[in-house]
Amino acid sequence: MPLRKATGVELHRTGFGIFARTEVVVGGRALARFGRRERRRIEDALAEVGAAAVAEDLDRVLWQTSDGFYWDDDGLDAEAVALLAWDRLRRQDARIERLRKIRAAEEAVTGARRERIPEEVRLFVWTRDEGRCVRCAAEDDLQFDHVIPVARGGGNAPENIQILCGICNRAKGDQIAK
Ligand SMILES: [Zn+2]
Repeated sequence: MPLRKATGVELHRTGFGIFARTEVVVGGRALARFGRRERRRIEDALAEVGAAAVAEDLDRVLWQTSDGFYWDDDGLDAEAVALLAWDRLRRQDARIERLRKIRAAEEAVTGARRERIPEEVRLFVWTRDEGRCVRCAAEDDLQFDHVIPVARGGGNAPENIQILCGICNRAKGDQIAK
């Protein structure tokens, strides 16, 4: 594991003026204590590189980044830690955005009977249709659509589910109604 999110990390400030100290406490245990000069070094590294080592425990290093604290047992340097933390955040954002779209599409399922499309079918269809409207390739306002409407006997098998955007779905609904 190159980089793992560290939990239960707290920075405690103690003392004043030249006696000011920062304590790195993990799970109630003080792992490191440093003065103002070291604190300055860490803040500079955070601003310039995006990551700074703040403590060591056994053979792991605790890094502070703009996205919180991480453990590294791979001997990474500050730039690598900053990049991996950034990549982790970026992929998490993409995953959340993907889930948000899937849920929005799920909630927009229309039909006479609002029968719930099974989770595994939704994920299968989402991957198969590449997260886009199958008619116009739009990537927003997406809905899971029954190719043959539920009211006309269409089921929840993957072959009968497709992704449409709202516009294409309404256009399809108009065609069926005629
Ligand atoms: Zn469309």
